Amino acid sequence: MNEEQYSILLVDDDEVDRLTVKRAFKKANFSAILTEVQNGQEALANLASKAQDCDSNCAEKEIDNSKTNGDKSNLLQVATTTNQDFDLVLLDYRLPDINGLNLIAEIKALNLDLPIIVLTGQGDEEIAVEIMKAGAADYISKGKIEPESLAKAITSAIRIHKAEQAVEAVNERLRAGNELLLLKNQELEKQKQQIKLQNIKLQESYNLKSEFLATMSHELRTPMNAIMGFSQLLLRQYPDPLSEQQQNLIQRIFNNGKNLLDMINEMLDFSKIEAGKLDLNPQKLDLNFLIKLTVEELRSLALQKNLSLVTDIQLEDSFLVQDSNFIKRTLINLLSNALKFTESGGVIVRAWEIEDTTIAIAVTDTGIGIASEDQNKIFQAFRQGDQTFTREHAGTGLGLAISESLVKMMKGKILVNSELGEGSTFIVEIPRKYDA
Ligand code: ADP
Repeated sequence: MNEEQYSILLVDDDEVDRLTVKRAFKKANFSAILTEVQNGQEALANLASKAQDCDSNCAEKEIDNSKTNGDKSNLLQVATTTNQDFDLVLLDYRLPDINGLNLIAEIKALNLDLPIIVLTGQGDEEIAVEIMKAGAADYISKGKIEPESLAKAITSAIRIHKAEQAVEAVNERLRAGNELLLLKNQELEKQKQQIKLQNIKLQESYNLKSEFLATMSHELRTPMNAIMGFSQLLLRQYPDPLSEQQQNLIQRIFNNGKNLLDMINEMLDFSKIEAGKLDLNPQKLDLNFLIKLTVEELRSLALQKNLSLVTDIQLEDSFLVQDSNFIKRTLINLLSNALKFTESGGVIVRAWEIEDTTIAIAVTDTGIGIASEDQNKIFQAFRQGDQTFTREHAGTGLGLAISESLVKMMKGKILVNSELGEGSTFIVEIPRKYDA
């Protein structure tokens, strides 16, 4: 006995044949709601009313097996209403008004998705292929109707059909999902293009800014050099001597001019680095000599603040193949920061070999120190520990950004060790020999 009760449309003009089918159902314990019609027109009328009732969810309703009937006592019911969802059409090939092939075509034209089994008469076997081609699920010769085989054919036709529908529904969902993905992909591609465009625009404005910075710094340097040159000339007091107050004023012009020139030079360096216009020039150098020379150049700053400034160089071999200008600029930046941010105590510059191939240079001060949350920010351009306008120490916020770029160009790295109120140590590690 079948578990589900199927709804079947039996189309046959021959009462005896219809009876044979019904008897076979009974014998096979096959539970079905049978709607009987006698010709093609009636069949189409029944199916057409179903087609009208069938909304877009029709296919899914058909997959739903909710029609399982718990009460199997009345195995064969004859349908009283004509507009119900059929699970299958059992179709006599020879009908008085239309042949089976044409009827199958008409049923298909109704857009009804349901399996059709064709009952063929004697001698109709040769058109079986045509029947299957036309879209029938199966065919059974009327002369060979056996209760079990008929029930089996119907059950498997319906099951196969439902399975096909389920696969189709899944496929449909996959197709919809795919389309959605495609749309999303297109949207992402559009966004990617937009981001690309924005990036280009950003790069353009970035380049413009760098160019502007370079031009401005360059243009500012000329008058600054003139101001400093003339104030230096005046300080020589030749041919006429100056009063003490005049000397004092001119010295201040000179000092401020020097600060301004340092800042302009920093900006020029930074814009050159950004534009990739600063070339590294490695050559043999004596690091011991270079450190001591640089320290002496800055000694006056230490003296002004009464700070000690010493070196401790522990190099077995003090010769390097590196860019001496880059090392010197980095050292000047670190040293002037150390002296700037230290009010008592002093600054020490050390150098040693980490390995044969790597050299470390460290600048340690006993100054204000750097809060740990600021330590990774200070290497960013224009970043300062104290960003307020009322800050105590002058500067552009470019020194460490420039130093880091220079050290990176030398294939090295720069590290900071600091504690607020305790002082700071900046360590530069570079290869002894620059290898392009
Ligand atoms: P600038 O010195 O022009 O402000 P830098 O890039 O050289 O710019 O330094 C960025 C910031 O890092 C400084 O403003 C300061 O807050 C902090 N800093 C750098 N060196 C030291 C140091 N030796 N001691 C304390 N703070 C320092």
